Amino acid sequence: MPIAFDNSYARELAGLYVAAQPALAPAPRLLYFNDALAAELGLDDPALSGPQAAALFAGNALPEGAEPIAQAYAGHQFGGFSPQLGDGRALLIGEVIDRAGRRRDIAFKGSGRTPFSRGGDGRAAVGPMLREVLVGEAMHALGIATTRALAVAATGEPVRRERVLPGAVLTRVAASHLRVGTFQFFAARGDLGNLRRLFDYTVARHDPELAGTPDAAFGLLRRVAQRQAGLVAQWMNAGFIHGVMNTDNMALSGETIDYGPCAFIEAYDPAAVFSSIDHGGRYAYANQPKIARWNLARFAEALLPLVADGEDEAATQRAVAQAMAVIDAFPGWYEQALRSGQRAKLGLAADARADTQAGDAQLADDWLALLHAQAVDWTLAWRRLADAAGGDEQRLRTLFAEPQALAPWLARWRERCAADDAAGGPGAAERAARMRRANPFVIARNHRVEEALAAASDDDELGPFERLLAALQQPFDETPANARYGVPAPAAVTAGYQTFCGT
Ligand code: AMP
Ligand code: MG
Repeated sequence: MPIAFDNSYARELAGLYVAAQPALAPAPRLLYFNDALAAELGLDDPALSGPQAAALFAGNALPEGAEPIAQAYAGHQFGGFSPQLGDGRALLIGEVIDRAGRRRDIAFKGSGRTPFSRGGDGRAAVGPMLREVLVGEAMHALGIATTRALAVAATGEPVRRERVLPGAVLTRVAASHLRVGTFQFFAARGDLGNLRRLFDYTVARHDPELAGTPDAAFGLLRRVAQRQAGLVAQWMNAGFIHGVMNTDNMALSGETIDYGPCAFIEAYDPAAVFSSIDHGGRYAYANQPKIARWNLARFAEALLPLVADGEDEAATQRAVAQAMAVIDAFPGWYEQALRSGQRAKLGLAADARADTQAGDAQLADDWLALLHAQAVDWTLAWRRLADAAGGDEQRLRTLFAEPQALAPWLARWRERCAADDAAGGPGAAERAARMRRANPFVIARNHRVEEALAAASDDDELGPFERLLAALQQPFDETPANARYGVPAPAAVTAGYQTFCGT
């Protein structure tokens, strides 16, 4: 099968991974293939989605040039450090240069045991892998950086979880699989040589302008922090809860990675948490920016041995201060990205003037407070605000149990829009149209995702998955065909909803 692999990780970073082979799947069957992504990768060869595709994407017949490896990494999971995690059920099979010239990893997830599997079986189930397709494609369509699914193949092998489930292998495409935890692995071992090789590789791959500059380590820290600030701001503005922001699930590329117990908020509640294992609410919706900063501090610690050897006390203190300056700048970067996204969602001019910034932030905060107080559906509230911009306030009002509480806020917002229009702003119709491009109608609602996955996993029925996926790929369109995907789950369903890591 003709794939032009160029495997830089395998070639340049011997010692940072272990070569391993995927397990044989007894009865491979292709459940999903992403034609658009394949085209982006230059892999739109009919052979890749033809009869041999199932064997290929289940791991039975690796394409020529593939060099499967399990990457080593560590990580803080729920705040506790595990010095050795690594690819326990994943394999990087190779890298390609896509049509736009970007290097992309192609990796399997669920392809069997590796030397990093610990007690795990190395497997994945159909449901969680199709879930990764749905949520990843939804994020991509929303314009949020993410790893993406190229294919899902059922293996024909049962996987034992709370109950027996059909097994599957996901083929995941990523800007890279470098994580905060990759650095932590070598820093924790005091393996300075490999830490430096990893650093040089990461800079060359993601931030090549930094190569050879003084203070490149702080430069990388800053770039990673800025990417995370932008990413988490987008999550927050989309109502997305990642669910398991462990340091091994924070990609240095700035892509969203590892769709396990993730979920989109329904009725707005900053404390929302759906993950069955997140008892303390560490990864609750509103905590995400704080956790990102915490993870970045762990990244800074892992970089420190590169710039201070610990012998020279004064030099170490200077390095710590420099790293802290970056970590302390994170909330400002995040705030800026968040507010800029909020302005677009509110239909306000992008170029916030200094004199309106504080007022706009207050306007956004007061809107969120209203949504919270009345438990209004996050996605529909924003969408109906676009209708209000276009002249129809009624659809917005019906979302509120006490719509009279909305009136003073709406008056302020209209005044603010009018000020924009007086200064050459877009006017009502164009504002409404822009807001409909900033505020999706279709998100991956939990009950729709569960319905689609249950049909696929329990009944081998892919129709609901395919229809939901099609709607998620056009999230800003509100049509009769996708109307059912815009309806919130009954409150009782959301209140009792739990997501699982899918392990
Ligand atoms: P995750 O929660 O999916 O980010 O995974 C955390 C760690 O657990 C990683 O090192 C995974 O490779 C490992 N892991 C998760 N599930 C399995 C499994 N079924 N078998 C082996 N390792 C696993
Ligand atoms: Mg992970």
